[in-house]
Amino acid sequence: MYIVMIASECAPVAKVGGLGDVIYGLSRELEIRGHAVEIILPKYDCMRYDHIHGLHVTYPDLWVPWYNGAIHCSIWFGFVHGRKCFFIEPHSNDKFFNRGNFYGYPDEALRYAFFSKATLEFLSKTNKRPDILHCHDWQTGLVPVLLFEMYKFQGLTNQRVCYTIHNFRHQGVTGTNLLSATGLQRPEYYLHYDRLRDNFNANAINFMKAGIVYSNFVTTVSPQHAWEARHTDQNYGLGHTIDIHQHKFGGILNGLDYQVWNPEIDPLLPSHYGVSTLAKKYENKEKLRERLWLRKEFKPLIAYVGRLDSQKGIHLIRHAIFYALKQGAQFVLLGSSPEKSINDQFWQLKRQLNDNPDCHLEINFNEELSHLIYAGADMIVVPSVYEPCGLTQMIALRYGTVPIVRAVGGLFNTVFDRDHDSRPVHERNGYVFHQDSYGDLESAMHRAIGLWYNYPEEFRDLILNGMRCDYSWNQPGQDYLNIYELIQK
Ligand code: ADP
Repeated sequence: MYIVMIASECAPVAKVGGLGDVIYGLSRELEIRGHAVEIILPKYDCMRYDHIHGLHVTYPDLWVPWYNGAIHCSIWFGFVHGRKCFFIEPHSNDKFFNRGNFYGYPDEALRYAFFSKATLEFLSKTNKRPDILHCHDWQTGLVPVLLFEMYKFQGLTNQRVCYTIHNFRHQGVTGTNLLSATGLQRPEYYLHYDRLRDNFNANAINFMKAGIVYSNFVTTVSPQHAWEARHTDQNYGLGHTIDIHQHKFGGILNGLDYQVWNPEIDPLLPSHYGVSTLAKKYENKEKLRERLWLRKEFKPLIAYVGRLDSQKGIHLIRHAIFYALKQGAQFVLLGSSPEKSINDQFWQLKRQLNDNPDCHLEINFNEELSHLIYAGADMIVVPSVYEPCGLTQMIALRYGTVPIVRAVGGLFNTVFDRDHDSRPVHERNGYVFHQDSYGDLESAMHRAIGLWYNYPEEFRDLILNGMRCDYSWNQPGQDYLNIYELIQK
């Protein structure tokens, strides 16, 4: 099969969150299975160019119709750690992708509408005829609209679209001027409830809704989140749209790139270890303590790694720090937020805890330190309020770090409570709590810390259960292929 991924991120060249990891990991898995995969991205000025090999212009003169004229683009090609990537570079005063950051601009909808249009123009003009276009998140929601309403008549007749929603919170709601920019025109047709009209603003277009309505199949990133999207308010207003299109909607758990995340070979770890050499994990714990000036005492080390965003349960993260210290554990936090008020709050907390030898807060984005934390910690807390899939708990499991999680989205599908689960004991791999409350969080942490102190052998068994889980791309890769095949029929 010939698959083209269309997305706004791809790790490690353009990574803001889990989306970037998924684009890279899924593409790699599909290629390993013998399929041809190409990735199309905007050519951002802020990409990690040191991770692109053989970058060159492959198609210098693509003219993309835009409003009443056209924008001249160059298409670049390069390999990102073996993956084939095309980068779209528009030459216009809008400087759509030359802004210094990936996201966060007032004309965001226009930037990605242009990217979507340019992608189809590129495929059409260069006679590329993939079997599947796999689009991701709101940024590419217009691709199936442009394909089935316009480019179908310009040579792209047999293509099918799979659309994956990584986060319902950002949908791309915008005015109707996009219809004239992209050449779709006909606002009376598109601004219809059954098509692109936002479910709550009668004068606005919703990119994500467009993606759902027009694609041949729609997925989100875990089975539990697919259920939440249909039956709770976690769809951020798209519940009715999903309901109408439920026959083509499902959840596929994200995979983890087991090549990148492997404690047996991870170049960022001082000591390598695996299931049969677990003792070596504790050398990483010592190194982590040295690096972060934590005292070396017989205590469990609990960590948090992730964005500091309201969806991650900021209040519970804060509470977990104090509760861990009170219960005789150490705590390490690595996280940052684009929101100044949240960053300030954690900087204040950092100052407050500065002299505590059992605690360290690192308010930063630091890939390298994150690997040492996953390896050095005994437990990790993920108390999310909203979590479509979540990669941190899967990385923790792989690194023998016991996850303590709230039962939402992908966390529900990957972590199974040691004491309260119907699965066989050897499949239980962590601690799970249900309510968004301090009491529930405390009870799970209390059980985890208690096991660490009082039943070290059983704690070790729990670690090994986690390390033996398979959250690689193996199964999800097959699941996506099944969908591609289904929609081709
Ligand atoms: P989301 O996509 O909502 O940010 P995920 O759990 O799916 O959450 O993915 C987060 C990824 O980003 C993980 O690989 C995690 O290790 C990494 N990460 C998050 N915050 C940081 C940070 N401050 N420093 C290093 N890595 C981070």
